Amino acid sequence: MNRKRRVGIGGIATESCTFSPLNTTIDDFTIWRGDGMQEIYPYLPAWIWRDRDDIAFIPCLKAWATPGGQVTSDAYAEMKAELLERIEAALPLDGFFLDIHGAMSVLGLDDAEGDLATAIRALVGPDCVISAGMDLHGNITEQLVSQVDVFTCYRHAPHIDALETKERAVAHLVHLLDTGIRPHRAFVRIPVMLPGERTSTVVEPGRSVYGRLAESDGVAGVIDPSLWVGYVWADQPRTNAAVVVTGTDVVAISREAERIARRYWDARHDFSFEVPTGDPDWAIDEALKLDQTAVFISDAGDNITAGGAGDSPFMISRLLTRKEFTSGARTAIVAAIPNTEAVRVCIEAGVGSEVTVSIGGMLDPVNGVPLDLRGTVSAIQRDDPEGGDTAVVRCGGIRVAVTSRRKVFFHRSDFEAVGLDVDAHHLTVVKVGYLFPDQRAMASAAFMALSPGAVNLDIPSLPYHRVQRPIYPLDPRTPDPDLAPMCFAPIGG
Ligand SMILES: [Zn+2]
Repeated sequence: MNRKRRVGIGGIATESCTFSPLNTTIDDFTIWRGDGMQEIYPYLPAWIWRDRDDIAFIPCLKAWATPGGQVTSDAYAEMKAELLERIEAALPLDGFFLDIHGAMSVLGLDDAEGDLATAIRALVGPDCVISAGMDLHGNITEQLVSQVDVFTCYRHAPHIDALETKERAVAHLVHLLDTGIRPHRAFVRIPVMLPGERTSTVVEPGRSVYGRLAESDGVAGVIDPSLWVGYVWADQPRTNAAVVVTGTDVVAISREAERIARRYWDARHDFSFEVPTGDPDWAIDEALKLDQTAVFISDAGDNITAGGAGDSPFMISRLLTRKEFTSGARTAIVAAIPNTEAVRVCIEAGVGSEVTVSIGGMLDPVNGVPLDLRGTVSAIQRDDPEGGDTAVVRCGGIRVAVTSRRKVFFHRSDFEAVGLDVDAHHLTVVKVGYLFPDQRAMASAAFMALSPGAVNLDIPSLPYHRVQRPIYPLDPRTPDPDLAPMCFAPIGG
């Protein structure tokens, strides 16, 4: 019997907004090492124990952080060094599953994932098959494509297929190891930069553009067709949409890559927001007109899931200008705004106490100004694994959840844990862009507020200097591009 083949697993994943002054540090990352990584790869034990006793998976290191500002060079250097050290200890490797997001920005680096993949390739050598499983909001470069054998990325936004995608990346890797195939990659840069909020796959044209990737799945010579919307809040040359089709038949993968890129380019004017979207005061007006409870408003300019700091108090200040809310005739939840000091003050004062706390503009002083919030502490929750401690401050009809660490209230249980029932209040303001599945289920209606912030959805208004021009929509008249792919020959012998 042949020796067991050895497959390493690892990566560093986050999404970083270069317009946010809030750097992502080593403390913001959760790091899993060695066997401790099994909890994040629930599908792998099945491969290891049931199906494939001829492959040994060697978990090395996986780091993940909530989207935020750029990663400090120290944090990246530390994680990269440990990952490489663990890979070196695992050598020789026949394969490597590179588990990355694709939109990590590191201070001083234009292409962090390309840098990481290059360092891993140098260590594992040309004979090792590397498979990358990514987020469709990642940004792709020639350097990254030159180092990785096979790519796949999510086909749904919101990412209901996250785990399925990672499993597909591992399946591609095992397929290449079983067959001995080293594939070609056809790469197309598409000069379009649209935010995830305009390219949701829940509505058209995103639904069809992504749905039609399945047509390329069955084509002979194609292993994987992938389309990246990209990540727009990074002022870097790599910021754009992209296609990579991996396969064995250069003609087939080139044709499919160009077809997919053409569909995306042709649809560029049709992408729109999936819910009514506009000025924050307009969104509040429209929500109130409905005269119903559980109406959600996304505070999209400060969307934590896109890298916003989450501590802009802008929406609270708009609600406070309205008598119907200050009087309590109408009620609203704002969840949540991170501020360690404010939470400490609330905990010290206790439930039922009157407090005045300053919130906002601490993490991101560029995009938010501090606001004094005067009210009653109505709930306290301690030691949430993600948000830390939480206090709810009631200010007339407005209930503001303040967390000691950045946390998105994705689930009903997040609200219930601090005594908030979205069905009992007219409005619920959340720090996201598009609503996530549980939020959609809770919402009786939804609006998106084009609020100011580091992840402002008015893309042409952002101060880009380094993206490749022309690009739509910064240059509305971007000429019809040449979408013929750049083809990369198989890596190795
Ligand atoms: Zn994403």
